[in-house]
Amino acid sequence: MELIRIYEALLTRFGPQGWWPMGNGFRPREWEVCVGAVLTQNTAWSNVEKALESLKESRCTDVETMMRTDTEALGEMVHPSGFYKQKAIKLRALGEAVMGFGSIEDFLKSVTREQLLEIKGIGPETADSILLYACGRPYFVVDAYTRRIFSRLGLVKEDMDYEDIGVFFEANLPKDSALYGEFHALIVRLAKEHCRKKPSCGGCPLEKGCRHISEK
Ligand code: SF4
Repeated sequence: MELIRIYEALLTRFGPQGWWPMGNGFRPREWEVCVGAVLTQNTAWSNVEKALESLKESRCTDVETMMRTDTEALGEMVHPSGFYKQKAIKLRALGEAVMGFGSIEDFLKSVTREQLLEIKGIGPETADSILLYACGRPYFVVDAYTRRIFSRLGLVKEDMDYEDIGVFFEANLPKDSALYGEFHALIVRLAKEHCRKKPSCGGCPLEKGCRHISEK
């Protein structure tokens, strides 16, 4: 099955997912995306929402304020997202990198993937989330859901490198950041509704042509 047909089938079934940027009081709203991309590591999004809310209550919603906040206090604010001590350190490292560009706007405009990957605690998935959802650039985000679904469909190998899966998506889709952003959100939706660890294939929009079904 072609990737674009899979995208269309998911969009037809689930509709637009209305993901980032959310614009819930962070300045600029893309900064919320950057913070959320770090906080979502190893936790459910519902916990990230609580941590973002806590940052808002503490008025820590821009990079300059965050950099004036000490690491321990920042850790308390992001406590609901888990691994809060490490995440506070990672957020400060990200903030320092942003300040190195002079402003968040210049960071969003100019930062490269290589520069993001040099920041402590920023791996490929977090870097690509920032590039896609905050910077609006066409980098495909590969997560565990993507790996699970597309290996079941028979399009990637489960143990393939992150970079190779990303190249596969980027080579087989139009270079369109809006499409990539929506596609990733739809993949997450499918993984939660049907393609769970134990898949519930009945009624899945990709049921026709899924290799997992034909091998049963
Ligand atoms: S048919 Fe089943 S295995 Fe295939 S994508 Fe859908 S839920 Fe996953």
